[in-house]
Amino acid sequence: MTHIAVDDCVFCQIVAHDVPADVVRETAWTLAFADIAPQAPVHVVVITKDHHATLEELAGTDPGLLGTLMAEVTVVADDQGLGVDGYRVVINTGTEGGQTVGHVHAHVLGGRAMTWPPG
Ligand code: 5GP
Ligand code: ZN
Repeated sequence: MTHIAVDDCVFCQIVAHDVPADVVRETAWTLAFADIAPQAPVHVVVITKDHHATLEELAGTDPGLLGTLMAEVTVVADDQGLGVDGYRVVINTGTEGGQTVGHVHAHVLGGRAMTWPPG
């Protein structure tokens, strides 16, 4: 299966196996891998294999895929042993949202108690 890709996108390069990653789960539509700079004992990034820049863009162009991504987040969290004690899902969006990689992704964070409000 081919996917919408952008040449200079690091997450597209991970999907294409051009950049290595510690992949924890893969489906036809999504890829989950360990974050390179973990912020919690468990920190997995879940992405769509198709390149969509932001949550807004994904919701606007392929809302079904957004549903698939979020369902996959729960499977990854369960796989990581977070289903009982809980976890946090974060989708940073845009500059003020703290998004640094322009390919939509959900952070799954767990293995410690999270605090609120976030920074
Ligand atoms: P954002 O700040 O856009 O919400 O999240 C991007 C995340 O991707 C960051 O947590 C960062 O550590 C992670 N990241 C950036 N580049 C790479 C990479 O090449 N490999 C992996 N595994 N994670 C990356
Ligand atoms: Zn991409």
